[in-house]
Amino acid sequence: MSGSLAPLDVLRRQQRLLEALPLAGVDGLLVTALTNVRYLTGFTGSAGTLAITPSSVTLTTDGRYRTQAAEQVAAVGLSEAVTIVIGGMDAQREALLAALADAPSVGLEADHMTWAQATAWEGRLGRAPVATSGLVEELRAVKDQGEIERMRHAAAIADAALAEVLPLMAATGTTPISESAFALALDSAMRQRGAESVAFETIVAAGENSAKPHHHPSDRLIAVGDPVVVDFGATFEGYRSDMTRTFCVGGQPVGALREIFDLVSASQAAGVDAVRPGVTAGSIDDVCRGVIVDGGMGERFEHSTGHGVGLDIHELPWVASQGTAILEPGTVVTVEPGVYVAGVGGVRIEDTLVVTSSGAEPLTRFTKEVAA
Ligand code: ZN
Ligand code: ZN
Repeated sequence: MSGSLAPLDVLRRQQRLLEALPLAGVDGLLVTALTNVRYLTGFTGSAGTLAITPSSVTLTTDGRYRTQAAEQVAAVGLSEAVTIVIGGMDAQREALLAALADAPSVGLEADHMTWAQATAWEGRLGRAPVATSGLVEELRAVKDQGEIERMRHAAAIADAALAEVLPLMAATGTTPISESAFALALDSAMRQRGAESVAFETIVAAGENSAKPHHHPSDRLIAVGDPVVVDFGATFEGYRSDMTRTFCVGGQPVGALREIFDLVSASQAAGVDAVRPGVTAGSIDDVCRGVIVDGGMGERFEHSTGHGVGLDIHELPWVASQGTAILEPGTVVTVEPGVYVAGVGGVRIEDTLVVTSSGAEPLTRFTKEVAA
């Protein structure tokens, strides 16, 4: 599949990071967050550290990853640009210190390191490191074509999987199915369609459970008349999708539940319409929240409107009240307002969108037809 997708331009990521370092007041960066290491080198192992300065890029890991690290760095065309050092902890630290020796001011990733680790690095460096935050994450927030193509594919896998298994929910009146059994069927369908893993633990929340935004699927049977929140995604070549649909089993919702469906649907549609380059992430939250507040349900919308998605399921920018990040072409965000009323039920609708030059393209395209 990847043969038909645009290649990931990993060298350009390193160049963009090097341009950002002086602005953060550092000459080199010790990258300890594994997702950031992956972003900058292609290496996906469970242990690895990167030292990057204008004069060298050094990846260290242990012997378990000797072959994998070389293969993955080569696969993104960086055999020449990245020095790989394999060894025990001491050997890795020595190599990283040597790589950072010509950097008077070394940045650490403060969001991904304990106090003890930072203190230990200060001792090894023999000079005070600089606490940095979000340097690589801010680069990751804006996706290039290769990344968008992978995310579009992950979302298409998820869409097709849901279409395949939704009849199981519709048939629960005659062949009862539990939340957890439906979740398993959905996860399996994604894997069979080429997902390397789920994007996060699938949420299936039926009836009273739908009022809990992050319900863990249980052996509760899905019943006719239930609202059912299904929040899930696929991972393809590291990139994740994220979508929520809320169904009403056996027909259209009625009464108070109908009002909640209509309100969340209107809120989500308004939020999707508002996604475009040049606006703040916070303005999307304002739009979604405004619709729900106007509908008298503001206190029942207790989470933020959305988040960035990419190599991590939750990444920059945060689509939350006061969010100051400016959306630009290539930014990927979710729009996922929800209203949850204990005793009645909950509804959340979520799409993942990529900002384009003039608006936004939804990556998740599954129908919003409520009746299942
Ligand atoms: Zn979600
Ligand atoms: Zn989400």
